[in-house]
Amino acid sequence: MEAWRRALNDPVSAFPIIKAGPAHIATLKTFDPPLPALEGRRFSGAERRGKRLLFPTDDGELVLLIHLMTSGRLKALPAGEAGPKMPAFSLEFDGGSKLVLTEAAKRKRAGVWLLTPEAAAAELEHLGPEALGLGAAELGEIMRREAHRLHPLLRNQKAIAGIGRAWANEILHAAKLSPYALSTELTNEQVERLATAMDEELRRGLALREAGAKDERTYRVHNRLAAPCHVCSTPIAQVDFEEHTIYYCPKCQTGGRVLKDRRLSRLLR
Ligand SMILES: [Zn+2]
Repeated sequence: MEAWRRALNDPVSAFPIIKAGPAHIATLKTFDPPLPALEGRRFSGAERRGKRLLFPTDDGELVLLIHLMTSGRLKALPAGEAGPKMPAFSLEFDGGSKLVLTEAAKRKRAGVWLLTPEAAAAELEHLGPEALGLGAAELGEIMRREAHRLHPLLRNQKAIAGIGRAWANEILHAAKLSPYALSTELTNEQVERLATAMDEELRRGLALREAGAKDERTYRVHNRLAAPCHVCSTPIAQVDFEEHTIYYCPKCQTGGRVLKDRRLSRLLR
């Protein structure tokens, strides 16, 4: 997300908006203020809070909030460049450049909200502190607050903002911790390792994304079932937890143990 933010900051603030929309009915989540209220205004830049991108107008009146979820993609198109035929959301700037949101998935999950700054602040209030640069002391406090398994806890935006399931896989592997380990049972040394892994992995991802790397080059564990672990060569394993698939190395992370599926449907039975 931070790589998106950096790439979009200049193009979105270069010119005022001349046309807001169209927006897919499932993508635009708000109707008041209406989308055309953006027209004639200019963004001050791109900001980020957790996995959400924020585009405040430079008059301080409105904030466009975008959450890409898993499959949304946001692109700044220079003037004259042909965009997708059916964008989920699009803004056109004076001079002809565009900001275009596309989502390849059948089910539209990415969202766009046009909010007042007050409503945006309320929307973001429930987010936990940013993952990047969190540090071991604060991370330890979050871990000890309540007992949760590490993978879902890292992904919980109310606890820590900015980590999705892919980076939870990468971070836990780098920290040599089981995705199922209980947060309250971590030693201080393990918390330190997790804090370091969070920083190092998120920075590694950011650098690769900024260099234009695709998923295959970015992820070393996520979506790598049966590929050799880059540390110990053991084949990467997967396990279904609730509605997510977790990837891990059974040698580096679980002391050789194979984790059992815990699907939501089974848990509810
Ligand atoms: Zn390994």
